[in-house]
Amino acid sequence: MKPSTICVQGGWQPKKGEPRVLPIYQSTTFKYDNSEQMARLFDLEDEGYFYTRLQNPTNDAVASKIAALEGGVAAMLTSSGQAASFYAVFNICEAGDHFISSNTIYGGTYNLFGVTMKKLGIECTFVDPEASDEEIAKAFRPNTKCFFGETISNPGGHVFDIERFAKLAHAHGVPLIVDNTFATPINCRPFEWGADIVTHSTTKYMDGHATAVGGCIVDSGRFDWMAHAEKYPGLCTPDESYHGLTYAERFGEKAYITKATAQLMRDLGSIQSPENAFLLNLGLETLHLRMRQHCANAQRVAEYLVHDERVAWVSYAGLPGDKYHDLARKYLPQGGCGVIAFGLKGSRDEAIRFMDHLKMICIVTHVADARTCVLHPASHTHRQLSDEQLREAGVAPDLIRLSVGIEDVDDILADIRQALDAM
Ligand SMILES: *Cc1c(COP(=O)(O)O)cnc(C)c1O
Repeated sequence: MKPSTICVQGGWQPKKGEPRVLPIYQSTTFKYDNSEQMARLFDLEDEGYFYTRLQNPTNDAVASKIAALEGGVAAMLTSSGQAASFYAVFNICEAGDHFISSNTIYGGTYNLFGVTMKKLGIECTFVDPEASDEEIAKAFRPNTKCFFGETISNPGGHVFDIERFAKLAHAHGVPLIVDNTFATPINCRPFEWGADIVTHSTTKYMDGHATAVGGCIVDSGRFDWMAHAEKYPGLCTPDESYHGLTYAERFGEKAYITKATAQLMRDLGSIQSPENAFLLNLGLETLHLRMRQHCANAQRVAEYLVHDERVAWVSYAGLPGDKYHDLARKYLPQGGCGVIAFGLKGSRDEAIRFMDHLKMICIVTHVADARTCVLHPASHTHRQLSDEQLREAGVAPDLIRLSVGIEDVDDILADIRQALDAM
């Protein structure tokens, strides 16, 4: 099926007499006829539900829709995008290991990788994706376990050269993990370019209504763990907590997601609630329509901003002059996302004055939902950083992040224009 059809029809497949629409299985637990049936589930001998911390039918239906959209073999929902990023790496890294990440990633992920995971004994090297292959190759070590990047970076809008980094990662025997939150599988499917694992903050476009925080990890099933068995003992040697079962042997292409569910979710428990999964599914049913409108609106707004003399710079990969336009034409031929970064002439205070004059467009921390919204990272999410630290983190002090929604573009433009005029 085509992605638009999967958005509407994928996931929940009711049998005779079952609800047509995905129900919320608001139950922590599931019934069996005898002790033996239950024991087989605990040994991972049979598939089935026993406790919602591990699996729930509502969550599984939504995870399988997202897996189908990405073209993967299996997926797992998490309580947030942060949990998805953490589990995706922690599933194949342990204390003493190392991994590499692009430095143009979401600030929350940067902190998770650079500060919190370091406390667990897992070290991350951040590389500039603009660096040459030789420079990047220097970051790999014998204990490097994966490479991480973001299809379209939040907030800068940089486009990640997925095919190039997949080749670099594979040449060093490690998988490429791509955070596909901003592009969504409607605009880019990283597996088609060689990525091995995809993560999402479903809080953003996938939900689209800003109703539920959530995340997802999808596996392509293509990385050959056994070919690098010495690097991935967690997947390729017996798990003592499951009577010596070896995930890569027993579950083949589903080994990575099975381990993430059976081991990490069991022990750490960052599950998405079935009710949030239900809301996410409602959002997914219109994802293909919304992404089209987000991109068309953002293109118009970016073109308007670039021609307004009060605007100093605009970063939007859909603009022909943009630094990332060629990469966007390759990876995002139908459009990227609705998020534009731009700066106004004058001091960084101009950004604050502009935002305070907006009427319909609200100042919110959130990004990438149906309503147009705006944020000044230097005054809000990154306000503890100096101008120099901001630049190091890839966020210009004057950067305004405008998340273009799906309203009528004329109303969005009118609000921006009146705010610029009023300043
Ligand atoms: C928001 C975001 C995250 C974190 O997701 P939460 O759902 O807020 O935990 C991760 N990656 C990207 C690109 C994001 O925009």
